[in-house]
Amino acid sequence: MNQITLFDTLENKKKKFEPADPDHVKIYVCGPTTYDDAHIGHARPCIVYDVLVRYLRSIGRQVTYVRNVTDIDDKIIQRANENQEEPEALAARMFESYSTDMTRLWNLSPDHQPKVSEHFDEIRALIQKLIDRGNAYAADGDVYFHVPSHADYGKLSHRKLDDMEVGASERLDAATTRRKKHPYDFALWKGAKEGEPSWESPWGPGRPGWHIECSAMSMKYLGETFDLHGGGLDLVFPHHENEIAQSECATGQCYCRHWMHNGFVQINKEKMSKSLGNFFRLREAFDKNEPEAVRYSLLTVHYRSPFNLEMDLDEEGALLAFPQFRDAEARLEYLYNTKLRYGAIGAKKIKDRDDEVPQEIEAFTERVHTALADDLNTAQAIGHLSLCLKAVNELCDATQGKKGSMSRRSYEEIGKVLQSVEQVLGLGCDDPAAFLDRVRDRRAKERGVEIEWVESCLARRAEARAAKDFAAADAVRDELAARGVEMLDTPQGTSWRLSVQAAV
Ligand SMILES: [Zn+2]
Repeated sequence: MNQITLFDTLENKKKKFEPADPDHVKIYVCGPTTYDDAHIGHARPCIVYDVLVRYLRSIGRQVTYVRNVTDIDDKIIQRANENQEEPEALAARMFESYSTDMTRLWNLSPDHQPKVSEHFDEIRALIQKLIDRGNAYAADGDVYFHVPSHADYGKLSHRKLDDMEVGASERLDAATTRRKKHPYDFALWKGAKEGEPSWESPWGPGRPGWHIECSAMSMKYLGETFDLHGGGLDLVFPHHENEIAQSECATGQCYCRHWMHNGFVQINKEKMSKSLGNFFRLREAFDKNEPEAVRYSLLTVHYRSPFNLEMDLDEEGALLAFPQFRDAEARLEYLYNTKLRYGAIGAKKIKDRDDEVPQEIEAFTERVHTALADDLNTAQAIGHLSLCLKAVNELCDATQGKKGSMSRRSYEEIGKVLQSVEQVLGLGCDDPAAFLDRVRDRRAKERGVEIEWVESCLARRAEARAAKDFAAADAVRDELAARGVEMLDTPQGTSWRLSVQAAV
């Protein structure tokens, strides 16, 4: 079995991934703050850790995968006020929206998705423990973690407390500054403010700070020390640094054995933001291309590298296309067409004989596992997939002719390949015909090709062929081809597709 290595942010290098119990891996990933629909920055971590979990399971490891939901937060309260709705109602609605989008991206649901609103007991108990141990103090209804009480503070983000300056995002009002013993002390509990929801606590009514929820919920579901903590690079400091400080001060144990962070997503090489006019929600991308194309596309880039998404806009700044998603969708069409071709091979075509199975097919699963074992190299795994599908199609070509056939061994190996693509990469899990029809119909609509018109052409062609008027049949074919419509004659009848590039 492959030795798994992953880049560890704490040690700042690639290292052997060694779970405490090799047969049961415990993973925690920071999840969404549910105040809006998900965007591409939510999709990336979700897909990265989904592939990690799928891979570990496919090599026989049991995995407990926890991803939290921040359903109490300043942003939620603010947006709910703007919408004139209750914060809980907004958070619940946006959690549903997030879950739907992540499922459409073929991500498996985590084993636990704990919400802050359901873990007040754990959060209050952890804060009390930190106060009792002298690492936290109450001040005017707030509770702060005292950063200098944790000697290792800064070990994850590789900075020293003495060198740190209070950055712009950390500037606080005078009252808060007075309450804090050290400028980097952070809130574990925030005293209630006028017009905000609050909950009872021994320090007065209020609500938890952001960082404490992840320590409380990860340790509840995974124990005081677990194997891997994941999230986006933007969470290293201060969120994860603070998680380590408060957890290790509370337990005296190592909090997490391995820290994994995915790179940023950029749009046309810039940060995505509403002010730059390049902000979009995943749902807008799903209107342009299949959600699975977003998944495929993200997997073509190594998780630690930035992912630069190209976005074509018109002169008014309206969204035209995502070229990378469009290309990824074409690759997926190839995958699903391959599945259809494979599925159409009848029992009579399969022969018991000793052909060599092409290496691209026979070694596929092992090669993908090797790529993923090396710091989750999905880009390389996708490369293996392309070569493998090409080899499968060559075998299908050779099988198609009247006298063509396929060896039983090849047939069985291809079956295993297609299964592992689904299991490990989460690709090709859809119904092939349904996927291809959806893409075709959407493309037809975009290009103004009416489905009824195509169908009437197909009927005319069928009549002409039945009457042996091949010239007329060919004329219909040319008419369709001029608008990018390709016909596929199969034993079940004639189906049609639209070529990826629009016909000129
Ligand atoms: Zn977190």
